[in-house]
Amino acid sequence: MWSEGKRVAVTLSFDFDAEALWFETFRMNTPTPLSRGEYGARVGIHRVLSLLDKYGVPATFFIPAWTAEHHTEECKEVARRGHEIAYHSHHHESVVGMRMEIERELMVHSLEVLEKVTGQRPVGNRSVPFDLGRNTPYLLREFGFVYDSSLMGADDPYWLPIDGKDSEIVELPVAWELDDAPFFIFNFFPYMPGLWSPDHVFEIWRQEFDGAYREGGLFLLTMHPEIIGHRARIAMLERLIQYIAQHEGVWWARHIDVALDWKRRQQQAAQAAS
Ligand SMILES: [Zn+2]
Repeated sequence: MWSEGKRVAVTLSFDFDAEALWFETFRMNTPTPLSRGEYGARVGIHRVLSLLDKYGVPATFFIPAWTAEHHTEECKEVARRGHEIAYHSHHHESVVGMRMEIERELMVHSLEVLEKVTGQRPVGNRSVPFDLGRNTPYLLREFGFVYDSSLMGADDPYWLPIDGKDSEIVELPVAWELDDAPFFIFNFFPYMPGLWSPDHVFEIWRQEFDGAYREGGLFLLTMHPEIIGHRARIAMLERLIQYIAQHEGVWWARHIDVALDWKRRQQQAAQAAS
């Protein structure tokens, strides 16, 4: 599935939602929930960046424009270290049911903000919270996006459908079991059980990696600096990186590299067949 010598593509994403996850998605505006988001900018992001540096692992950061505007230095630092900056809404709003003109306006403004702050114009999208809007694929095509990463229709990349047909946009599928949020977010209202043992989550992710390795496919993890950045969890992520790195033929890549490699090989295969 991948270019020569690469048996499995391992690609890590960090959705840098910060406070916006709490005030927008969970509608919680009081100081304590907001501080849980702030933890991502004050503590989590630095632990994540240090860990990635230590192992030379490139990653993709999905950043709402709100985060870029309010945690500007942290977002600049992500880009300075060579990671990919991707699009993740304006202020963590859901686009489900949103009018296309509004979604377009938010996208125009947010792409400008991200480019101004980080120097990178995003070509990857992840809708909030993994819920792609009906109009979003049209906008992704209009704005020249290379890939989306919001759908759950396979384990490995596929073409994002538009009007029931394959588009030229690559879908890098996600899964809730490959996301830190359902395992670790505890909250009373709305109730979220969270608080899983990092060892337990390590075991799930290790087995998922083993499956991807056996098949020679894609291993894509979604994490959040404010969630995975806590002490015991970042230690677990380090253990997982060490485990994966023991294998032959692991390709550590940003999402954009995976999408472009897969796209090139699909197109080569189609040419060879015609
Ligand atoms: Zn998010």
